[in-house]
Order: sequence, then structure tokens, then C-alpha cells
Amino acid sequence: MLEYPSMRAEIAGSKARVFDFDDTLLARERVTRLMGLVVGKVRPQHVPHLTAEDIAQLNINHGRVEGEVKGRKEKTAFDWHAGRRVYPGVKEELEKLTTEGVDIYGNTGRPNKGAWVDMTHESLDRQGIDSFFRDIAFTPKGIKTAVSKAHRLWELSQQYEQVVMDEDDPRTVRFLATVLPNVQINYIQYGTSGLLVSRRELEAFPNVRRVAVFGERK
Ligand SMILES: [Mg+2]
Repeated sequence: MLEYPSMRAEIAGSKARVFDFDDTLLARERVTRLMGLVVGKVRPQHVPHLTAEDIAQLNINHGRVEGEVKGRKEKTAFDWHAGRRVYPGVKEELEKLTTEGVDIYGNTGRPNKGAWVDMTHESLDRQGIDSFFRDIAFTPKGIKTAVSKAHRLWELSQQYEQVVMDEDDPRTVRFLATVLPNVQINYIQYGTSGLLVSRRELEAFPNVRRVAVFGERK
């Protein structure tokens, strides 16, 4: 009898479309976006030098773990995230992908603490799109969001022939495109965040595609 690696047994379809949430599907407030830029310029996010093999070796639990929101700073961030609205046109896009037989996944830098996981599902459900996602990968404490996202994409690349990820953070785009050359990254670019990585630098990646934003940006 032939034996297949366990991942292969989970093959559900040939195409997976994977979405970041904040600033990709959900509107982030202008003020935090600008703050993000300032922090990025002053204190550049350090993305580790990891190879695809390193990513494959990682053992990361993207699922829900028990955990509450602690402290004023986290409470503020939590409330902001909870209020984020799905961009116009997102639901229609997810419906279209579903009709085409594409499996849809979430891949977010939001913590995998129970409070955050529940809030995210409730928010997506309230806005009518939670049921489109086969699974949502969250980021455990102590793991950089770019690394968590890369690990989840690597897992999915073992299960699907084609994996496409939509992401708005140019530094994350650069990292994912580097370690996962077989995954296509749709770079959702708008406004000031593009300044963090030069346009020419990202265009050098054959697996990065700049795409139009969903709906109207305010
Ligand atoms: Mg984002």
C-alpha cells in the first residue's frame, strides 16, 4: 500500500487564497496607520533571516489558546481592532472565489489568545464574511507576525498546488516573497505604507503582484 505524508491526505482543492486582515480586508484607522509608519521609520521592523527550510522546521500553533486582554494598551488595541470594518467589495470577492472553487483562508498577525480569536470571528460574522474562511491562522505570543504568516503559508503550500496571499505590509511582503518563492504575494499597496520598502525593490520579485485595493479608501 502506498503511503503518503499526512499533509497530503488533507488536500481539499488545488487553489488556496489566503488573506491578511488588517488593512487588507478590514479598514484600519488613519491615525494608527500613520503611527505605524513613524515607528517603522524610526525603529525598522527586524525580520529574521530565515530560509524556507527554517520555516518548515518551525512548530507553530496558530490556533486558539486561552487568554484574556490585559492592561490598558492591549485593551485599546483590542477595541480598535474590534471596530474595524470590512472594505466594500470584499464579500463579493469572497463569494466569487468560492464559486470558482478556491479555498479561502485567513492569516493574521492578531494574537491567538482566546479573546482576540473570538472577537475576530464575531466581527467577521457580524459583517457576513466569517463563513467564507475554512480556517484562520493567528499569531502566538513570541512569534513575529511575518514568521507566523510564512509558516502558515508553508503549511498550505504543502496541501495546495497554488497558494496566493494578500498582504498590505511591504516588509512582510518582502519577507514572504523571499522565503516562499512558490507562493504568489498580492501586495495591497496604498498611501504612505509603500514608503517603507521601495517600489522597485518589490517589483524585482517575480512572485509579487501589486493589486488594486478593495473598494474605497477613506
Ligand atoms: Mg495588514
